[in-house]
Amino acid sequence: MRYSQLFPKTIREAPKDATAINHKLLVRGGFVDQLMAGSWTLLPLGWRVVTKITQIIREEMDAIGGQEMLMPLMHPKEIWNETGRWESASEVMYQLKDTREKEFALSFTHEEIVMDLLRKHISSYKDLPVAIYHFSTKFRNEPRATGGILRGREFLMKDLYSAHATEKDLMGFYERVSEAYLKIFKRMGFEVYVTEAAGGVFTDRQTREFQVVAEAGEDTIYVKPGTHEAYNKEVFSGNEAEFEVKRAIEVGNIFPFGDKKYAEKMKVGFTDRDGQKKLVFFASYGIGVTRLLGTAVEVFHDDKGIVWPKVIAPFQAHLVGLGAGERESGRAGEVYERLTKLGIEVLWDETERGAGEKFADADLLGIPVRLVVSEKTGDKIEWKGRNRRETELVEIEEAIARLK
Ligand code: ATP
Ligand code: MG
Repeated sequence: MRYSQLFPKTIREAPKDATAINHKLLVRGGFVDQLMAGSWTLLPLGWRVVTKITQIIREEMDAIGGQEMLMPLMHPKEIWNETGRWESASEVMYQLKDTREKEFALSFTHEEIVMDLLRKHISSYKDLPVAIYHFSTKFRNEPRATGGILRGREFLMKDLYSAHATEKDLMGFYERVSEAYLKIFKRMGFEVYVTEAAGGVFTDRQTREFQVVAEAGEDTIYVKPGTHEAYNKEVFSGNEAEFEVKRAIEVGNIFPFGDKKYAEKMKVGFTDRDGQKKLVFFASYGIGVTRLLGTAVEVFHDDKGIVWPKVIAPFQAHLVGLGAGERESGRAGEVYERLTKLGIEVLWDETERGAGEKFADADLLGIPVRLVVSEKTGDKIEWKGRNRRETELVEIEEAIARLK
């Protein structure tokens, strides 16, 4: 990608109302744009990062047998009445009427929709277990949409749902999802804690949250020293002095519902081996995809900008050509063509701006490696890690080998 063609360009000043670091840096870098409170466009750079995040999640969901699909965002009132959530979740649910007075909800979650699918398509124990997931938008009427992209009124979530013939099978899968979640967050480089929590508008049972330690976190967790286990504020009942208290961001939450709550209310059953009619055992599992984008910036930044972990960076290398005439010909162009042909994702700043401005942008955008080609670099190339101070001159072959 040529920087001159990238939409939009970086912005010098953060928005006046921005207090969160992810808000300031993501807007300045041109990763996101705010339409109104809690509502964000993922611009091309932001979308590149989100695509990498979703791909990591997808790989780990598929590895445990999840099947990807896509469910609708507008739901009839009747389906929410079946579980009573049209009333009980009305504070969080956007409800609307069309011109014929028919009522709808905008999706804040999909348990009811999955239950409807299951009762149409499951009849025997042979049809179970089932694990289905999607990446889609959630709408939630959040009273306070602050913290930049961490809390939206419209945001991207990955939600997985599983149905089982027995409680034992459900709890076995619940543990596998829990492990897959840890893998996902660790692949992204986060320090993550599995946290016992309450179920909110979802369930009376305890649930598990996945909390990433970060100053900007809204949550407080109580960590058992020497472990990666914790309790959140609502369920913590220990002696504070024996725990480490940390600020954290909730990036995931998993809910083992069992056969009550949803299956009973929506009559989702199957015929077991012995010919008996039974209710399915059900669970749901969420990950905040856009919240992860913001969390990464909160955790990985310095005073100059973002420092993306390699696995979710929008590009692998930020190539800066210095000197007149770089735009049309010159060695930077040759390096760009070579790297691009090899499948290496490069952002090439071929604008005729000064080195200071180009380097400041490279620091702000946070791409893991900065490559400089100038008169001074001769037939070599300057290599600098975004998280390093020192630069080094390397052969182009060496740079390629490192990037591959
Ligand atoms: P919170 O306590 O932060 O309001 P929640 O417990 O209501 O979140 P869940 O229903 O557990 O959220 O949703 C699953 C995941 O979706 C959360 O773990 C979080 O990562 C993400 N998420 C929830 N609400 C938002 C939001 N308003 N904006 C962005 N991501 C969100
Ligand atoms: Mg939650």
